[in-house]
Amino acid sequence: MPDHSAKLWHFPGGLQLDPHKSQSTQHPIQRIPIPSRIALPVKQHIGEAAEVSVREGDYVYKGQPIAHAQNHVRTPVHASTSGTVVHVCQQPVPHPSGLTDLCVVIDTDGLDRWFDGLLDPIKDYGMVNPACLRARVHESGIVGLGGAAFPTAIKLQRPIETLLINGVECEPYISCDDMLLRERSAEILEGVRILRHALEARHCIIAIEGDMPLALEAMRQALGGEQANGIRLVTIPPKYPAGGERQLIKTVTGQEVPSDGLPIDIGMICHNVGTANAIYHAVCLGKPLVSRIVTVTGGGIKQPKNIEALIGTPMSHLIEACGGYTDRFERLIMGGPMMGFTLPSDRLPIIKATNCLLVASQDEVGSPSAVMPCIHCGDCARVCPAILLPQELYRFAQAKHFDKLQVYDLFDCIECGCCAYVCPSNLPLVQYYRFAKYEIIAREHDQASAELARRRYEQRNQRLAHEKQEHAQRLAKKKALLNKLHPDNAEDSRKAAIRSVVERVKAKKATH
Ligand code: SF4
Ligand code: SF4
Repeated sequence: MPDHSAKLWHFPGGLQLDPHKSQSTQHPIQRIPIPSRIALPVKQHIGEAAEVSVREGDYVYKGQPIAHAQNHVRTPVHASTSGTVVHVCQQPVPHPSGLTDLCVVIDTDGLDRWFDGLLDPIKDYGMVNPACLRARVHESGIVGLGGAAFPTAIKLQRPIETLLINGVECEPYISCDDMLLRERSAEILEGVRILRHALEARHCIIAIEGDMPLALEAMRQALGGEQANGIRLVTIPPKYPAGGERQLIKTVTGQEVPSDGLPIDIGMICHNVGTANAIYHAVCLGKPLVSRIVTVTGGGIKQPKNIEALIGTPMSHLIEACGGYTDRFERLIMGGPMMGFTLPSDRLPIIKATNCLLVASQDEVGSPSAVMPCIHCGDCARVCPAILLPQELYRFAQAKHFDKLQVYDLFDCIECGCCAYVCPSNLPLVQYYRFAKYEIIAREHDQASAELARRRYEQRNQRLAHEKQEHAQRLAKKKALLNKLHPDNAEDSRKAAIRSVVERVKAKKATH
């Protein structure tokens, strides 16, 4: 049984929101026809872009790497179906910046032929050392599928005390984890066991939100008697953003992640249920991450549902598979209504971070309201789960006081949107925080680059001075040696040598 009796703690702030999940959970997860063209961005994760390893004209198989990653801050990308590479070029990608990024564009052949160089399945993963499992996760291109897209292998680098599996899908409208838990609990659980072994975790908690009863039941059945074996299933009371990493850790353990620290600093690591499922496929079946579950929902779509989509599929293909837009369609959002961002078009590709396409109607996004000055009501601070002062962050972000923003812990903001949701002045608070974070990171990057250039310049000057000094020392040594060998006529013999060269030159001129 889920551990209802487990002691839980409250995190500060947060909101009770209408879940709006039932629209998209009426049907099983659906597979859709392969699109005629896919576009795979080479950077679908937090970190550096992978390096493209195919060229236009190449035939690629499903699961074949098309972009390599030499280190763990990069994540490889694999072809999600078979076909021919027709472009390697800049294409629009789903990102809040609206900028383009390098993509591998493939014209598919509809055969969906798997690559015969796939990695071998590791059936007995319990006998494999954690470093091998980490390498497998990295080579399979797995990133956090909860929406953050952080390279998963980085979160497998050190043994930990407690592994926390996040099945708390707290943002309204999104139901991909709920459906995955209902239909593939056994696979998720196998992924959890692999994670536990890779992290050498003594304890393991699977947390699922209380308003997902079918998901809870499916996981309870998959677990059987295993709860006694150190895996605990815990029901989390519905509250937004209970699925935030820090909020979930606080809820299940009562512990706080330090402001400038990470969960690992208190012996914990959090992984999403979708990520656990992808790890099962990578380790037990040898299959890289080439698809994910996407919730397509909202008042602007005819048949809301969850779809298993190949990475790179145009969003329009999913919209079509859901019966198309209703006449109430107003705005397309990637993610949920709280943390998602508006997309300029549906011709963008599904990426590893696409957990939801919210096809919102007018009544779901509301009419644009006039932005008014802050009235210092303090509502934003009351709902902030990170115990920040959102109105002060807004003030400093607006004035570009970046030093002050860091003093006020801007980077603890999880961009949950609770503050903006309650703000009576309709201030676009989260946009300001995102802008400020971006600026601070860009400046730090510039400063780091300038510092690196300065250090390189100094090192070069030091090296040249050192070489000059060594050269002078060598000459002096040679001279001293000569003087030692011919102490009496050292000066005379040098003059004689010069005289002989001059005479040779003169004689040569005379013969011409
Ligand atoms: S909720 Fe809005 S108006 Fe109220 S203090 Fe915060 S920013 Fe100002
Ligand atoms: S968006 Fe940031 S500042 Fe606003 S409530 Fe969430 S954590 Fe607090």
